[in-house]
Amino acid sequence: HTARYKELLASRKELPIYARMDDFFTVFHENQIVILAGEAGSGKTTQIPQFVAYSDLAHSRGKMIACTQPRRIAATSSAQRVAEEMDVELGHQVGYSIRFENKTTQGTFLKYMTDGMLLREAMNDPNLRKYSTIILDEVHERTLATDMLMGLLKSVAKRRAELKIIVMSATISAHKFQKYFSLGSDTEVPPVFKVPGRTHPVEIVYTQDLMKEPEHYVDAAIRTVVAIHRAEHPGDILLFLTGEEEIEMACSKIRHKVKCLIDLYPSSVGPIVCTPLYSSLEPIQQQRAFDPAPPARGPNHPPGRKVVVATNIAETSLTIDGIVYVVDPGFSKQKMYNPRTRGESLLVQPISKASAQQRAGRTGRTQPGKCFRLYTEEYFMSLEEQTCPEILRSNLSGMVLQLVKLGIQVKDLARFDYVDTPTPETLMRGIESLTFLKALDEDENLTPLGSMIGEFPLDPQLASLLVASPQFKCSEEILTITSMLSVPRIWVRPVDQKKEADQAKALFTVRGSDHLTLLNVYNQYVQNKSVEDWPETNFVSGRALVEAEKVRAQLQQLMGRFELELISITDKNKSYQSGGGYVTVKENHFAKLHPSYGGPELPEWVLFNEFIITGRSFLRTVSAVSPEWLLEIAPSYFNLRTFPDGKTRRALENLIEQKTAGSSNNFRSLYTMEDAVANLTGA
Ligand code: ADP
Ligand code: MG
Repeated sequence: HTARYKELLASRKELPIYARMDDFFTVFHENQIVILAGEAGSGKTTQIPQFVAYSDLAHSRGKMIACTQPRRIAATSSAQRVAEEMDVELGHQVGYSIRFENKTTQGTFLKYMTDGMLLREAMNDPNLRKYSTIILDEVHERTLATDMLMGLLKSVAKRRAELKIIVMSATISAHKFQKYFSLGSDTEVPPVFKVPGRTHPVEIVYTQDLMKEPEHYVDAAIRTVVAIHRAEHPGDILLFLTGEEEIEMACSKIRHKVKCLIDLYPSSVGPIVCTPLYSSLEPIQQQRAFDPAPPARGPNHPPGRKVVVATNIAETSLTIDGIVYVVDPGFSKQKMYNPRTRGESLLVQPISKASAQQRAGRTGRTQPGKCFRLYTEEYFMSLEEQTCPEILRSNLSGMVLQLVKLGIQVKDLARFDYVDTPTPETLMRGIESLTFLKALDEDENLTPLGSMIGEFPLDPQLASLLVASPQFKCSEEILTITSMLSVPRIWVRPVDQKKEADQAKALFTVRGSDHLTLLNVYNQYVQNKSVEDWPETNFVSGRALVEAEKVRAQLQQLMGRFELELISITDKNKSYQSGGGYVTVKENHFAKLHPSYGGPELPEWVLFNEFIITGRSFLRTVSAVSPEWLLEIAPSYFNLRTFPDGKTRRALENLIEQKTAGSSNNFRSLYTMEDAVANLTGA
């Protein structure tokens, strides 16, 4: 083996889990289901699958080991790390599978995958026969897909006595899962296998007062990082922020401030590297967060420091060694769903106590650490104990469709064995929305259309859009738009080049429709493939476009399988036009169009993809639509049972009339088509 292998082996042997290998084997051999609880960084994700792989039970039978992760970045990065540790090429013995990307081969026996991917596999093979051992990792994250997998695996375990299941969790919630997985009698209670974690103390520092303007937490965090760099002993810093834009902005400000400090005090301030870490980063850039801190600039100079600015991903999914200081402003971005408005949105929200404790626990693993909480101790005590599971705050239409595809009757959905049961109202909305898309028929049975929609790795609404598009002779375009909506942000807008970026964007803009603008960018990208640096000069993300191309190819393949024709609107009509409409209804909910909307004026009816709340509410990725469209085109595809009735028709006709007469321009938001219809009918 190579020197690198030996070096990695030595560091693996230092991990707390290594000391418990023999005990693990005993528990693993004696039980079908094991609950494994260990603190983040103890070696669960990287080592346990390897232990299983080398135990005789596993691959001798030619089956695979699956290890699920709630996050894509954790699946890819762990697979990469483990391939290196095993001294094999990634994608051969060890691989990964995430949505739109499969890095496995015939010989793969250890597969890291997102929880969502394993769930998709279960739709075609409900007993998951390919696998001898299934490891559910990070179950404490309680993502929708992991919760569903737990429900499924509980019943698969009864049908396949030889299947081994390991449920790994980073927190003390292990007993909740132990209880859940108890299959009946007392003898069948799965053991909780504990792995010791850090041993060094972590000092918690609170602020004296609560921030007067909590929305300024990013600035407060930046100040704290710079102050630590000036005053504290050597050791790397981990700062938790909520999303890509915020993180990139903070990184450039920190770099700038430290540079100014070094100019003022060259001999007493050390160099820093400041690296961002979030899911949509390129793998090579992600890996940079694991690089060591920079060296001192010379003898007798202070040592360098690494600052990692990360989303929640660094809370438990990824462990970066050498962190001594944690800065925790106390926020994260969380998905929220309101079944009344049917609106799902990402919101910056206070974290839970459990989350704050995990964050503090990212230090103190190899030496004593310090955690700076940018809030008071009183505030900490007032936080929720645990983060609310995703199943209680999501739109459930995708979940309902998957469960129905798995053979569960709609009427039994409320009685499915959930870890936490969703509210009946949210379940109802999910069923309603599938009925509306004609994925379920009037008797709530899965339709052939619904079955097809469920095969697409997309949200049911987007999938049904794609499936409907050949009927409207625009499937080429919809395929592109759908792909562009499935990748990270296309627009690049560097802090110091905002004007140039906006000018470049204006050249792509199809007025009145962000969707057609995305289509336009993609088409120009394809036409300009041979032009060097085309994405950079046009301020678009080359990586997102490459990704969109991959997604497009995969979706196209699926369309082919279902004999969905690719037809372009340009075959008849040489230009794209947006609907441009001017009518409104909604009373209770106000939102602005996101500044990125490329429209001439405020339309009154819009179609949109994202509802963002960041203090104020925004609709992002917006197209104006006309009442004519609602009246003539929409009912022919959607299952608008109430739509053709006289009242609705009259309402719409009125609106069209008003428009012709030149109506007011007040913009009020419209949540979804469904909402629009509900409003019109007074439902
Ligand atoms: P756990 O799942 O218990 O949180 P992991 O198995 O993910 O722990 O990590 C154990 C150790 O492996 C980490 O402390 C880190 O040193 C190392 N490690 C894991 N992933 C990577 C990576 N992508 N690059 C470098 N080191 C890594
Ligand atoms: Mg882990």
